[in-house]
Amino acid sequence: MISEDEARSQILDRLSPLDKRAVSLTDAIDCFSAEDYFARLPLPAFDNSAMDGYAVVASSCKKNGRLCVIGEQPAGPDRKLRVRDSEAVRIFTGAALPQGADAIVMQEDVTRDGTEITLNVDVDGGDFVRRRGCDLAEGQMILARGERIRASTVALLASQGFADVIVGGKPTAAVISTGDELVKPGEQLQPGEIYDSNSVLLNALLLRCGVNATAVEHCPDDRQSLGDAVKRGIKNHLLIISGGVSVGEHDLVKEALRELSAKIEIWRVAVKPGKPFLFGSIQQGTPSPHSSPSGRERRTRSAGEGSATTPTCLVFGLPGNPVSAFVTFLQFVRPAILRMMGATNLDLPEVPAKLAIGLTNDGDRPHYIRGKLEHEKFTPIGRQESHALFGLSQANALLRIAVGQSLEAGEIVNVQIWD
Ligand code: AMP
Ligand code: MG
Repeated sequence: MISEDEARSQILDRLSPLDKRAVSLTDAIDCFSAEDYFARLPLPAFDNSAMDGYAVVASSCKKNGRLCVIGEQPAGPDRKLRVRDSEAVRIFTGAALPQGADAIVMQEDVTRDGTEITLNVDVDGGDFVRRRGCDLAEGQMILARGERIRASTVALLASQGFADVIVGGKPTAAVISTGDELVKPGEQLQPGEIYDSNSVLLNALLLRCGVNATAVEHCPDDRQSLGDAVKRGIKNHLLIISGGVSVGEHDLVKEALRELSAKIEIWRVAVKPGKPFLFGSIQQGTPSPHSSPSGRERRTRSAGEGSATTPTCLVFGLPGNPVSAFVTFLQFVRPAILRMMGATNLDLPEVPAKLAIGLTNDGDRPHYIRGKLEHEKFTPIGRQESHALFGLSQANALLRIAVGQSLEAGEIVNVQIWD
């Protein structure tokens, strides 16, 4: 049994970022930038009005003074108007500031009478003017390599005239849920059977990482079926198998993988829940040891090594208990996916929180406590057992307690969040 840190670094060492590609801004959401981007334009790109009103020369204005309106400048092409003392140009939000003007008077602050306005306020230079470059200077970094692209990121890129962006690759993934007891939601349950909840769980967690599963299939605890399902699944960069990685006679995943010449690199990690976690790699198209492998199949390049074809598939075997599957996905699968996608930060976001009750870990593995983070307070929620899906569904944060660690009520701890 190895530590979480060892497991994580072994997994990450096994892969590298996928080839970068250009995508439209629309398709870039939740991808990771593969390059540093710098501002092509200052923001704002020209001095403009922050209000609907009148562009004026501040030094010629005083409360109750009158100005002559000499023209109009809406947002759009610059009409190149010029304002002099005692003059005003009718102006609208976002319109270029006329030459000579250095302030805007809001339309609510004037009384208009034909081509004249009376000022109801004093005016200072710079009032309601958005100066060129006050938000962003030309050449300033706007997006760093490895940063996640969000709605506001694509907006900023668009404001700079970028139609597309170079991002990291997107891994393909398949999910297999193993278990004779599993029934698809919507179908009839027989005694002893349960609904398969890990299929949708893992599919949803993949989606949250920006990956659409190419297949999500259920497989009975049967060697032949499992072998066939794995053969289909390894056409992807990642294969995620739920259940069947424990020590029971019906836990056939390891055997099925070995029969396909998989390299089992990790089995069992010191983490609670999630101890039976398995990680391995398998060459795509590798036949069983009884048939002779071709040259192509013998290539050893690892998944995500920046090639168009990916001869090796990384296999994650997650324990079937839903909370174990959830925790091991977040701690081991998520960072692997993010690394393949070119992310810099592979960690879950962490926030400080006040612990509602005292907690001690007397066990021999670090324990991830599911809890509710609300108003900066973390309260453990539900049964802290690996099958307890309801508690997990109410939780929005994880607290990791190291072996032998004791935490007191009221203590400030860091908790991981994922939604
Ligand atoms: P296993 O890891 O296959 O030994 O399964 C451990 C526990 O998780 C058992 O109680 C299973 O019934 C349950 N389990 C396995 N797979 C799933 C699944 N896809 N959805 C819900 N529960 C599951
Ligand atoms: Mg099982």
